[in-house]
Amino acid sequence: MTARTTARTRTALVIGGGIAGPVAAMALHKAGIEATVYEAYDSTGHPAPSLSSAGGMTIAPNGQQALEAIDAAETVRAIGTPVTALGLRSWTGRHLARLAPPEHLPTTRFVWRTELHEALAAEATRRGIPFQRGKRLLDATDTGTGVTARFSDGSLAKADVLIGADGLRSTVRSLIDPSTPKPHYAGMLTFTAHVQKTELPSTEGVLYMCYGKRAYFAYQIRDDASAVWTVNLPHREPMTSAEAQAVGAVEWLRRLAQTFTDDRTPAPDLVAATAPEDLLITGPTETMPPLTTWSRGRMTLIGDAAHATPPTSGQGASLASESAVQLARCLRDLPPGQAFKAYESLRRPRVDRILKHTTATATATSAAARTATPKPAGPVSRALRDALLPMATRVGGAGGAVWGAWQFDHPIAWDERVE
Ligand SMILES: Cc1cc2nc3c(=O)[nH]c(=O)nc-3n(C[C@H](O)[C@H](O)[C@H](O)COP(=O)(O)OP(=O)(O)OC[C@H]3O[C@@H](n4cnc5c(N)ncnc54)[C@H](O)[C@@H]3O)c2cc1C
Repeated sequence: MTARTTARTRTALVIGGGIAGPVAAMALHKAGIEATVYEAYDSTGHPAPSLSSAGGMTIAPNGQQALEAIDAAETVRAIGTPVTALGLRSWTGRHLARLAPPEHLPTTRFVWRTELHEALAAEATRRGIPFQRGKRLLDATDTGTGVTARFSDGSLAKADVLIGADGLRSTVRSLIDPSTPKPHYAGMLTFTAHVQKTELPSTEGVLYMCYGKRAYFAYQIRDDASAVWTVNLPHREPMTSAEAQAVGAVEWLRRLAQTFTDDRTPAPDLVAATAPEDLLITGPTETMPPLTTWSRGRMTLIGDAAHATPPTSGQGASLASESAVQLARCLRDLPPGQAFKAYESLRRPRVDRILKHTTATATATSAAARTATPKPAGPVSRALRDALLPMATRVGGAGGAVWGAWQFDHPIAWDERVE
């Protein structure tokens, strides 16, 4: 083996300043590798319309464990609202199941996406990591001993390796494999809203998911009488984020009110109590087939760029954080080529398992309902689902229904050497 191929990584270009990017940069920093983050948008909070720019999300215990490995879990704890359990309800308002997470793990947190981006970027900056905004990667050249990146403002940057943390529509992914398929529309539009004040009682930390008659509705009512809700609205015709924005919040609230008119859940009240300026039109859901390779030469992928999971999994951001931390461990202990191989072997089985589980759960819990697809459930399907769902969710054994189970418990042994 030549010195060239055995040399350890000293510097890295991290493309994308969403979730995976700053987490990777902090992990690399901890591993003694100099990293710089390059983010396409030039302001924090990414102006809409962008799929990844708005809305809320839950950060699962395993995502927080990944952050703990690099001493950054406080970023999520500081901005997140605890979600202590998951409640499932039918459109009639019936409580179908209540799932609690394993007790020894960090509590799932609901965060606003823009706040999470800002918190992670601020923490990376606080640690002395350069975070450059307004830097959209156009192209990159692998010289064999390093990578030169070219940005839309004409600037260049060089480092030993380049890490694509640039999301579902990754540019780095096409540089690694130009034949890679594009993400495709999954038949749903998503919305998230913040309700300033509702008369409904607090859900005491529980996040409820309602299998509405025409669409899926999730909500949590806080102790201060505010609420958050999110909708997956089946929409057969593909619509871009910009097109969905153009419809306008007033019109969407009208359509959503119609969608939930028959439901005997808090959905009609919460939609009615939402001010148009508090509706976030998060846009179309998209899926991505698994990639044949995540790495080529001195370039590799993390987060959605490598392994996008459906939003219904509630795992995308957490898996992105896990991959970012594991990649840094590999680059700390091995030269780039071997490190990328080790990283893929470490990560693929878990990512594939979660992807399979998400599909299986969607099938089990909504075999009849088909909640994960554009077609809403018919009356027979709904009845079947409501009868089967309490059983389908009882995966925890003697303790009853457990939320997350094996997915949620994934500590990363940072100090362990990668061979
Ligand atoms: C509606 C919806 C709900 C979701 N809910 C959840 C949830 O509850 N829990 C969960 O864990 N996950 C959820 N997800 C998934 C989660 O959002 C993603 O898995 C996560 O954002 C992936 O992080 P990332 O850093 O890989 O990508 P992103 O967050 O998309 O960040 C990519 C970054 O790269 C930048 N970028 C793109 N191209 C370039 C370029 N050429 N040059 C420089 N920068 C570039 C972008 O501006 C962006 O900042 C949801 C997704 C959606 C769509």
